[in-house]
Amino acid sequence: MSPRLPMLIVCFLGFATSVVLSDEGMFPISELGRLNLSAKGMGLTPAELFNPGQVSLVDGICRVNGCTGSFVSRNGLIITNHHCAFDAIQKASTSKNDLLTNGFIAKDFAEEVPAPNYTVRITEGYKDVSEQVLSALTESMTALERNKAIEKRRKEIELESEKENKGLRVEVAEMFAGKTYVLFLYTYLKDIRLVFAPPIAVGAFGGEADNWEWPRHTGDFSFMRAYTAPDGTSAEYSPNNIPYHPKRVIKIAPQGVNEEDFVFLLGYPGRTVRQKTASFLKFEQDVRLPAVVELYAWQISEMEKAGASDREVAIKHASRTKSLANVEKRSRGQLLGLKRASIVATKEKSEAELTKFIQTDAGRRNAYGSLLKDIGSVYQDMSEKGPFEIHFRELKLACRAMSFAFTIYDAAVEREKQDLERETPYMNRNIELTVQQLKLDVADWHKPTDTIMLAGMLERLSKINGSRDMERLAIVLDDNRSFAERAESLMSSTRLGDNRFVEECLKKNPAELESVSDPILNLVIQLYPAYKKLRDLDKEREGRLGQLYGSLVEAKQAFDPAQFVPDANATLRITYGRVRGYSPSDAIQKTPVSTLQGVIEKTTGAEPYITPKAVLDRYAAKDFGTFVHPKLGQVPVAILYNTDTTGGNSGSPVFNAKGELVGVNFDRTFEATINDFAWNESYSRSIGVDIRYVLWITGIVYEAKHLLAEMGL
Ligand code: ASP
Repeated sequence: MSPRLPMLIVCFLGFATSVVLSDEGMFPISELGRLNLSAKGMGLTPAELFNPGQVSLVDGICRVNGCTGSFVSRNGLIITNHHCAFDAIQKASTSKNDLLTNGFIAKDFAEEVPAPNYTVRITEGYKDVSEQVLSALTESMTALERNKAIEKRRKEIELESEKENKGLRVEVAEMFAGKTYVLFLYTYLKDIRLVFAPPIAVGAFGGEADNWEWPRHTGDFSFMRAYTAPDGTSAEYSPNNIPYHPKRVIKIAPQGVNEEDFVFLLGYPGRTVRQKTASFLKFEQDVRLPAVVELYAWQISEMEKAGASDREVAIKHASRTKSLANVEKRSRGQLLGLKRASIVATKEKSEAELTKFIQTDAGRRNAYGSLLKDIGSVYQDMSEKGPFEIHFRELKLACRAMSFAFTIYDAAVEREKQDLERETPYMNRNIELTVQQLKLDVADWHKPTDTIMLAGMLERLSKINGSRDMERLAIVLDDNRSFAERAESLMSSTRLGDNRFVEECLKKNPAELESVSDPILNLVIQLYPAYKKLRDLDKEREGRLGQLYGSLVEAKQAFDPAQFVPDANATLRITYGRVRGYSPSDAIQKTPVSTLQGVIEKTTGAEPYITPKAVLDRYAAKDFGTFVHPKLGQVPVAILYNTDTTGGNSGSPVFNAKGELVGVNFDRTFEATINDFAWNESYSRSIGVDIRYVLWITGIVYEAKHLLAEMGL
């Protein structure tokens, strides 16, 4: 940790130290001292893990966009997942130079490929700012005012703190809705490059069939590198930049781990919702998740059809297809898990007990008596309006041209406001990334697919109550041509797939945009007030729920402190456990290590089980180097362990007790998709690629020995 940073150790949980922490959980690093990790098998002291002002393990971990990574060399080499680098690999691929299919190896720094719109963050410090944030609120505020006041105060604190901490990025995170806010200081690097990616046939072996499943035989890893300006400060890409020098380099343990060994992960888990109520779970189960499954499955199949006979089109759609497929299958797993583990019923039971506790005391009754009902009524409203709201939001996501138009117009509207009043993506500190992302998306646009998406969304909306309440939408929906014809006529003359046009539009103010003639842009501008209204409604609900959940957490803590588990919110967390198999169902026992033998057994030569010749050759030659599992007599490919992880833990280092790298986390089992709602030792398992497979593929199969040498091997 840099000594110049103010560091205040706080209890992120924001409550009395009487809170008892269970084994479940992704714990903020502020809790390290209270976890008693040495009793669980940890070989490092809390100070060796995290030590403000000194160098500790945490300094070797970074956030890579929405994933996690580890610095594995003095020269900023990062190991993360293949699926985390996927966007960079896809953007650099063409049908003639297909890095997705062939993989990529930079032989030296000069050959590394810039990864546009990738950023890397390293946590430098934190400070509790709850009081400052909450002082922006007054009793008389409406829910919407409350939400906006919190949002604005958080932004103010971020900007002020960035002035005091030159060169660092500051973000205020909500640890507990309506209760605890913590400011995080980050080193923020903007020149990130691709160094090594195995072919997709290794990096995503098994494709969607194997995604979220165990046993797994996927080499889901890649190497990237962070760069800075020659003086060491953060800078945009420039050929003159130099590799970043991390304060701590993560040591590799080439011998890997064994079953029942203690492991722990550091990382940036995205979001869990374990504090939410049964009414929320019902909304997820009955309304949101089924809609996501239907909408995404349809979009994926259309994108796949479009790319089936044209590799150029397939490459354009690859990133989006992959991320929708990931969420679609996860949502299916969650729907199944909600039913199978009777999660709603279990929640209802614990809420009934909480209610009894509240009702037995007049003070508690007064303070918390109507909480669950009030929270329930918000979800009731969301459930009733859900079908329309979800599809209306999806209209401008599924149809990419509408999404581009929305960003352009929204940016123009927001630009007219003071920086602090703007929606986050359009603030001065974020606008560059927003615009760059827009241009990258425009470059991947494919008109025929987008026309199908627009037609499909209009058709879906036409069947939903409420869609015709909006005059402009009703006109499009009640036109008497087919949906395909309507979509075609809107899409045929749009210029939103052309970055020169998009750039011109980005210079215009709202009035100027209103007079541009482009059918999709015009439609989006006419629908804009409705989108804005929906955004405000979302904020109002968030404000209301934030306040109610704040009180619920208080009531729960009074009732049973042992039950308390912090939710993930994309800030640095630790989780620990053991390499361990599980029984997903009666009479089935799954063991925790998969091997190269399994890759060979699964290989059919057809998608998604194609194994590259280089791998087959090394296998046939029994050229395994020192990477053979001593008991299994094979190169281990993936490992399973009972830690508590979620999306965002992709790329997280899997450490042995000494804090050495034994794997790279990339997934969970199908049963564990439900983790986001409820974790349970019997079914929650995370999956990582074994370091021995990483080293075998990199050093022996693809002969990138210079990378092994760079990692000190
Ligand atoms: N593969 C997962 C994801 O990126 C990681 C997880 O959620 O456990 O969504």
